[in-house]
Amino acid sequence: ATPAATMVGTSIGAQHGVLFEGGDVLERVRDVDTVVFDKTGTLTRGEMTLTDVRPVAPATDGAVPEEADAVAADEGDATERLLAAAATAEHGSEHPIAEAVVAGARERGVEPGALDVLQNVSGKGIRARTEHGTVVVGKPDLLREEDVDPGPATDAMRELESEGKTAMLVACDGELLGVLAVADEVRESAKRAVAALRERDIAVHMITGDNERTARAVAERVGVDPENVRAGVLPEDKADAVDAIQADGSRAMMVGDGVNDAPALASAFVGVAIGSGTDVAIEAADVTLMRSDPYDVVKAINVSEGTLAKIK
Ligand code: ADP
Ligand code: MG
Repeated sequence: ATPAATMVGTSIGAQHGVLFEGGDVLERVRDVDTVVFDKTGTLTRGEMTLTDVRPVAPATDGAVPEEADAVAADEGDATERLLAAAATAEHGSEHPIAEAVVAGARERGVEPGALDVLQNVSGKGIRARTEHGTVVVGKPDLLREEDVDPGPATDAMRELESEGKTAMLVACDGELLGVLAVADEVRESAKRAVAALRERDIAVHMITGDNERTARAVAERVGVDPENVRAGVLPEDKADAVDAIQADGSRAMMVGDGVNDAPALASAFVGVAIGSGTDVAIEAADVTLMRSDPYDVVKAINVSEGTLAKIK
């Protein structure tokens, strides 16, 4: 491509909120045959809401059935205990899940308490020392590491996850308190973007740190084939997941928003950052979508193809 044509392409892109980091990127985009989307914050808005609060049924130990009022009161207590423990721990974290848990607890009249020490366990959850005790919030694996059996919450987790929600377990001082779920809205144009890419014979994949069931539910909503979904990918493994997709010679465009995604963006043939994403992702990317609209991936390809077609 001539420098003039590249400049025209770059400027048309900019008019559409698609920022190419230089002319060579514009040319590379044309050769992309695979698009890999991150889920949270990319295909979805990444703005989560607390939707479900489910204390685990307290062990009855064969006690005589209590009166209905007493049972209801116990349930209220258990709900409050669950929310208070989780909100107190999450209160120190900046993860979108944490913000949803704290806001959701407040809406339900529960304020976070005193937090002593907070430890983020990357891709799995958090562990915190709080006024309530040692609280763990996150995936079943994380609870197992604390010798808490997630078993009693398995059915609730499954049910919530198959609704596309992210469910997490809450334990305090080794006792399983219950399950919380947060939901995130799929971005409006995500489905249209996936359909347009597939129409052009571009393979579409999704990578997420979220669990398999939630990932599949979201993939189904946006039209990504279940076999192209990689779930439970730890932050440090996202770049490897992109490399695995490119192992057959595919030229992948990775689209992501998070700090987690930066190495994967750098590893892909073309890295694309969502404009509302973190600075780290934007710095690692070759292209930034200022409108945070997944359909702008298609526009980026159109601009690239249009420009280059005119030159030849
Ligand atoms: P993603 O790759 O989807 O952006 P992350 O790697 O940040 O997600 O997190 C992956 C999973 O780890 C989440 O879906 C959640 O199950 C768990 N997790 C991470 N941070 C937290 C937290 N602060 N509280 C509870 N669970 C968390
Ligand atoms: Mg993300």
